[in-house]
Amino acid sequence: MTNIVPIPLANYRQIVVLTGAGISVASGLPTYRGAGGIWNHVSVDSHATAAAVQSDPERVWRFFAELRQQVAQAEPNAAHVAIAQAEQQLRADQHLTVLTQNVDGLHARAGSKRVVELHGSLNQACCTRCDFSSRQGFSAFSESCPRCPKCKAFQRPAVVLFDEPLPVDAEWAAKKVLRDCDLFLAVGTSGTVSPASNLVRAAQYAGARTVYVNLEPMKPHNPAFGEVVLGRAEELLPLLFGVG
Ligand SMILES: [Zn+2]
Repeated sequence: MTNIVPIPLANYRQIVVLTGAGISVASGLPTYRGAGGIWNHVSVDSHATAAAVQSDPERVWRFFAELRQQVAQAEPNAAHVAIAQAEQQLRADQHLTVLTQNVDGLHARAGSKRVVELHGSLNQACCTRCDFSSRQGFSAFSESCPRCPKCKAFQRPAVVLFDEPLPVDAEWAAKKVLRDCDLFLAVGTSGTVSPASNLVRAAQYAGARTVYVNLEPMKPHNPAFGEVVLGRAEELLPLLFGVG
């Protein structure tokens, strides 16, 4: 790890931190791709697509129930805590928004107040047929797929599956903060695939300082990032934000 120069957060008004699976590795949660990734040993097609929900809702539900149990036992790590502490130290005219691709809820548990869950959350379920949805504790869901209390169809985890678009409200909330973003960090995400690649481009377009923080270098390099800081998120973020 090279010498880390802290970012003077006081100089920025609209701070956006995009996070991906890499930020939760130190909490004991697996990534999806790469070494030890979930999709190396579980078929995406049969467990995490809208088609799979239609053909075998029980299988999809049980798969996410396992993830939910892992999340229920996990704790936020120093990276989640550093982001929450940075937000707490801001002036009234400053904002810090977390845009997360994670469905583990660890930012909120660390104390972050402004969190946009781009891919939904494991603590939400919704009906596969009607507009019913519910949010409850990670441990409160049953292991087998529940029926909708309104229409009796199967429920499903309210997470974005592989062939599904981002929820409209989450995408809108992300666009809103990126419009006048002046500091953008991507943490624990590859930075080269959507939505990370689009979000950093929007931040760059707004004139933001753009920083890539990850264990792995970008492949290929995304020129929308002005700075690259390589290392473990839980070590880097407390230093970058000057907290902890
Ligand atoms: Zn229903």
